[in-house]
Amino acid sequence: MNEVKSDIEIAQECTMKPIDEIVEQLKVAKEDWEPYGKYKAKLSLDVLDRLHNKQDGKIILVTAISPTPAGEGKSTVTVGLGQALSKIGKNSIIALREPSLGPCMGIKGGAAGGGYSQVVPMEDINLHFTGDFHAITTAHNALSALLDNHIHQGNHLKIDVRRVVWKRVVDLNDRALRQVVVGLGGPIQGVPRESGFDITVASEIMAILCLANNLKDLKERLARIVIAYNFEQQPVTVKDLGVEGALTLLLKEALKPNLVQTLENTPALIHGGPFANIAHGCNSIIATKMAAKLADYVVTEAGFGADLGAEKFLNIKARYANIKPSLVVVVATIRALKMHGGVPKDELKKENVAALQLGIDNLLKHIDTIKSFGLPLVVAVNKFITDTDAEVAALQELCKEHGVEAVLTEVWEKGGEGGEALAQKCVTLIEEEENNFEHLYHLNVSIMEKIETIAKKVYGADGVDFAPKAKKQIAQFEKEGWGELPICMAKTQYSLSDDPTRLGRPEGFTITVRELRPSIGAGFIVALTGDVMTMPGLPKQPAALRMDVSEDGKAIGLF
Ligand code: ADP
Repeated sequence: MNEVKSDIEIAQECTMKPIDEIVEQLKVAKEDWEPYGKYKAKLSLDVLDRLHNKQDGKIILVTAISPTPAGEGKSTVTVGLGQALSKIGKNSIIALREPSLGPCMGIKGGAAGGGYSQVVPMEDINLHFTGDFHAITTAHNALSALLDNHIHQGNHLKIDVRRVVWKRVVDLNDRALRQVVVGLGGPIQGVPRESGFDITVASEIMAILCLANNLKDLKERLARIVIAYNFEQQPVTVKDLGVEGALTLLLKEALKPNLVQTLENTPALIHGGPFANIAHGCNSIIATKMAAKLADYVVTEAGFGADLGAEKFLNIKARYANIKPSLVVVVATIRALKMHGGVPKDELKKENVAALQLGIDNLLKHIDTIKSFGLPLVVAVNKFITDTDAEVAALQELCKEHGVEAVLTEVWEKGGEGGEALAQKCVTLIEEEENNFEHLYHLNVSIMEKIETIAKKVYGADGVDFAPKAKKQIAQFEKEGWGELPICMAKTQYSLSDDPTRLGRPEGFTITVRELRPSIGAGFIVALTGDVMTMPGLPKQPAALRMDVSEDGKAIGLF
């Protein structure tokens, strides 16, 4: 057998086209793009206005089963499917999230795909890229500085320093910054108060950038951010501080989608990357909408499994963007399904059809969820070299019994060619299947009802327990006029329940909502079902230990 090359080796061997040749494929006007170096570009928001009357391309949403340590390869399939659609002669583009530097330095694995289905230049994409995350970090911290300055300069808004909710951010995993005290050192250093740092992808500004439809919408959302509460316990917003203009100014370039290419020189938009727990976990609305104007088929991805990423894509993003996906692809791997069926990680290479059949229950629940949104779907079996024919056949058979096709996908190993069958199936299903897309809940029902709908219909829970704190907050939020916002569930990604150890398809459980957080700028209420880490730590052996750069400037050990 040939030696298996690492993702970075494959990426570095590919021949990239200069970015103007990728732009040419999209037929973007000369004044509507600007190069960021040789292989990256930013597209102007004017593209959306100019193509306003053009019919939108079909949006294919890629999601997955509940993730396991065995890995699912959602980004790999997203990129591979984009490549494959081009291979079968379709005009296609992909839209992905930008990776965060924190996990990149921490644990192996980025968000640029894998094997022969990747986006390039992968070093740039995984490191500083076009500076969007820098701009978001700076806008976030500028707001923190302006807020502390307001308090220092007399605090006319009567902000209760014990109730400041706006923290600071950095795009690194740095547990030492989770809790800090600012303003120490006497009267000229500001007012001492407790605070902390989150990772940039957890910033509400990241979610806002990804949910804004245009510059005006961005500014209005920024103005609505709740930064603190005053002594009467009323919310204090960015608008009260009067700095939404300055923040918008800092973000005006970051709002433009970034264009790069796949290993097969097809176009890819990579833009924004919010967390998928306390935020909605998808690339920007602007990138998805622009992609739909620029190509006939858009392949895009949502974080974690279908219970989190796809649910939020469909109930939050699609609602704010006023878009309708044409098809959903649910990625599954035999390995991960075997884990859901009880096989430990070190025994995944052994054939085990019985465990696979048990684990498939997890996939079937996600299939039901997508059906409950009225959307057509297909399962993509992301093939690993250890999968056996008997296992693949068993998976396809069980899916068929449930009225869904499972298509074998070998995009990791073979690039676009390995995804032609999937691409063909997607095109056919989009043409032939009914699409009755509907959000799962109406915005005008109560916060509790919305959470219960998600828990019952998407997770398969019997009901929801609201902790006393959560009940009190719900009453407060509805009084503030925030009751009509969509819900963003923060739940473990590993289980359909709120207990990460319950794999497969758990039954007979309730979800406990402990606390809520208002993300009024982003435009959703976060419901927390457990501890949510908004500033990750580094592992004992961080991936950074393997990273280096050669004397001629080539990245080593990124992945
Ligand atoms: P996700 O988007 O689900 O987090 P990725 O697509 O980023 O997953 O893939 C995670 C890792 O798994 C990458 O390093 C990728 O190269 C690897 N991978 C994905 N699919 C396969 C496969 N079929 N065979 C072997 N490795 C794979």
